[in-house]
Amino acid sequence: MSADTIDTQTVDAAGSASRLPSPTSRTSYSAIELYAPNRAPCRIDLSDNTNLWGVPPNALAGLHAAATASVTRYPALYAGALKRALAAYAGVGEQHVVTGCGSDDVLDSAMRAFAEPGERVACPTPSFAMIPIFARMNGLVPVEVPLRPDFGLDADAMLQTDARVIYVCSPNNPTGTLLERAAVERVIERAPGVVIVDEAYAEFVGGGMDGDAGFLREAAGLPNVLVVRTMSKAFGLAGLRIGYATGSAAVVAEVEKSRGPYKVNALAEQAAVAALTTDRAWVADRVRDALASRERLAGALRALGLTPLPSAANFLLVPVPDAEAIGRAMRERGVAVRPFVGLPHVGDALRISVGPWEMLEECIAALREALDTGTRH
Ligand code: PMP
Repeated sequence: MSADTIDTQTVDAAGSASRLPSPTSRTSYSAIELYAPNRAPCRIDLSDNTNLWGVPPNALAGLHAAATASVTRYPALYAGALKRALAAYAGVGEQHVVTGCGSDDVLDSAMRAFAEPGERVACPTPSFAMIPIFARMNGLVPVEVPLRPDFGLDADAMLQTDARVIYVCSPNNPTGTLLERAAVERVIERAPGVVIVDEAYAEFVGGGMDGDAGFLREAAGLPNVLVVRTMSKAFGLAGLRIGYATGSAAVVAEVEKSRGPYKVNALAEQAAVAALTTDRAWVADRVRDALASRERLAGALRALGLTPLPSAANFLLVPVPDAEAIGRAMRERGVAVRPFVGLPHVGDALRISVGPWEMLEECIAALREALDTGTRH
């Protein structure tokens, strides 16, 4: 009998089916699907909110230099050089910084660090799709709390979950909206456990590279906050997988323990340090380019009769009828965007990353054609 034909279903006295424990997987994993959005290569890829202007120049040079050095040895255990560069960037002591293999890794490690299996993780919806997945992976129970109809944070509803870990994201992915500071502060003041503030897109807030935006520095002085950021977006280093977080020394130490050693590879660390110490002006210029492109794209979408949500990030969420069909039609025209189906308060929508204007012009042309084709059917 092949493995595929082994019947793992059993029926209890009440007649409901349950799964026998499989020797090769955890029962709680059976409901978790592989995260696999359509990432097939596309001529113009506006689907993942990375820096479409490219890699910071000194980071690239650092990468070439590091590649010629020996990689036969392990990298630093906890990426000390990167921590020091990030601490200077954040304006905190290095004991307040933890790094990881992408901010995904930091978020995943934080859940393991701060909640026991079976405890709750509250997160808004719509928000970052990986959060409920990381919660389940760690044996935790995700509780999704709808954002208010104006996409603000429903602080009291989040608190009512009594969750051990509360996750908020500002600017929020996929809506692009900035959460009100007072609402996040209310959650921080009253939460029974740790509050994770995901600021992956913070560099795009306000006029761009606004050091005071968000809670990055403040987190070091708060007992229950972890502010998570990434070098995958504004800093243009998504392929190197560098995430980090700030918090009190005690909070950060717990995440570091849970994350484990050697999570930032030697090449990534060297390039990231170069970006933080010598490419900041380049990054700031690209952030300004992104903000200009975003406003132009919003105008072009409105001219098509669409209404993008106000965004504080490097992408726009724009409601459209039948997002999957439109996303497919745009792909056929060489432009990838991220379709969302049935989002609370939004319905179907496309998330479009901003980039150089020539890319966005092609996106608008592809969208116009896809909408025209859709309405003719
Ligand atoms: N948080 C948010 C809100 C994101 O949008 C993303 C990437 N899409 C991440 C975290 C993870 O980014 P990374 O692992 O590349 O740092």
